[in-house]
Amino acid sequence: MINDHSALLLKAIDGKFLSADEGLELYLNAPLSQLMFAANEVRKKLHPHGKVTWIIDRNVNYTNICVSGCKFCNFYRGKNHREAYVTSIEEYRQKIDELFALGGNQLLLQGGMHPDFGLSFYTELFQALKGMYPDLKLHALGPPEVVHIAQLESLSYHDTLERLMAAGLDSLPGAGAEILVERVRSEVSRNKCTANQWLDVMREAHRLGLTTSATMMFGHIETPEERLQHMIAVREVQAGKPDAATGFISFIPWPFQDKNTVLSKRYNVHNSVSREEYIRTIAISRLMLPNIQNVQASWLTVGKETAQLCLHAGANDFGSIMIEENVVSVAGADYKFDKEGIRKAIREAGFEPQFRNQQFEFLPSPE
Ligand code: SF4
Repeated sequence: MINDHSALLLKAIDGKFLSADEGLELYLNAPLSQLMFAANEVRKKLHPHGKVTWIIDRNVNYTNICVSGCKFCNFYRGKNHREAYVTSIEEYRQKIDELFALGGNQLLLQGGMHPDFGLSFYTELFQALKGMYPDLKLHALGPPEVVHIAQLESLSYHDTLERLMAAGLDSLPGAGAEILVERVRSEVSRNKCTANQWLDVMREAHRLGLTTSATMMFGHIETPEERLQHMIAVREVQAGKPDAATGFISFIPWPFQDKNTVLSKRYNVHNSVSREEYIRTIAISRLMLPNIQNVQASWLTVGKETAQLCLHAGANDFGSIMIEENVVSVAGADYKFDKEGIRKAIREAGFEPQFRNQQFEFLPSPE
């Protein structure tokens, strides 16, 4: 690599932290082939085995009643809306039975921020699900819900998380991050937790030994600089985690899905992310976040072929076959994979598929 960007790319391959300006220079101006090459080198260092991981989990929404009103979401309903629901135990039973029959054991359990659901709703639900299915893993809620519950109950994040963990919470998804910059959040998700609150919940989760992930929803009103700020905020929290904790186990960037959202209908904001831009974003994520082990290509939102290219641009994880997903699906993401399909897609891209659990431990592939 002999050009102006070589020193920066070599610094990143070396595992050193790039500054926001350095990252931005590469993100905007480095040739795509060089960005992909460097990100692939980082992936090879972190994952020399050449395997690409995947998981089976089931996304269940415990309610679609939400007080947040995010402008990119057309999943939520008001409490008295005729389509408002709270998932019943019988419905959980049916969905979890299907999950186990397919060879998965993890529920990605998320919902709206119900105005009346305090801590006991979640602890009783977790205990009930774990009582019925002791092997079930709960990858549940996210920092916005934790902040919401803590505020309703006048509890610290520490105490809220500790009680959720005692009731069965196994890991905390990085949901609701969008872009961790106040200017953006005040525009697109004004009633949700602030960037600092999101980061504080994650810091506390890591102190408690709870494994988490981080997401980035981009391609709406944010600038490239703000995407880089987001990555650096996540990286700093990860750098401050206790040594024994995993902290953020993965980083998952995905483009805003605009169909029928308030952002697109009322504000004329549409998903602006091209295939090249998504690949560049995966690559720069891999280069900016050397202290986070896994980067996931979001095939659900960008489709198979773009996600396959991302496996050559730093991504090492293909995520889940997603038996059920409601939030981005109703906003236009309609790609689907079954077990054989996801394995075939990984092989086509030149990698060996490896089934995993939420802790990224390798497991035998389910038949
Ligand atoms: S994205 Fe989540 S928090 Fe925002 S409105 Fe939708 S359900 Fe509520």
